Amino acid sequence: MSKRERIRGIAADTLDFILEVSKSYHPYEFIGLLSADSDVISDVLLLPGMLSSDRNASIRLDMIPLGISYVGSVHNHPYPGPGAARPSAQDLFIFGRTGNCHIITFYPYDGDCWRCYNSVGEERELKIIGNG
Ligand code: ZN
Repeated sequence: MSKRERIRGIAADTLDFILEVSKSYHPYEFIGLLSADSDVISDVLLLPGMLSSDRNASIRLDMIPLGISYVGSVHNHPYPGPGAARPSAQDLFIFGRTGNCHIITFYPYDGDCWRCYNSVGEERELKIIGNG
């Protein structure tokens, strides 16, 4: 069974972590993989050595560790503005190959400075699941 089609939300803690990591890397980009506990994204695997200094965080698909399970990806866009969260052509290439749930955060990484996309780059809903 593919659980990636069933993701309904992200743990509030995990989203906080993603925004904190985005801030700490700014103005550089980071990229990571999202993993889920049941239907909620609950963990981020940061991929080392995949940073870049400009607008293209890159990911080498052949460097994803074997055997890890993931449902999507996350990276930041270190620039502000309404178009900042839009996926680039390179992002879409990655989205199509790494699951169905892709978060892009954007400067200044406040609580609402993120969007989620499906594997073809259409914005999708992702509920924030509180920790009780
Ligand atoms: Zn991007």
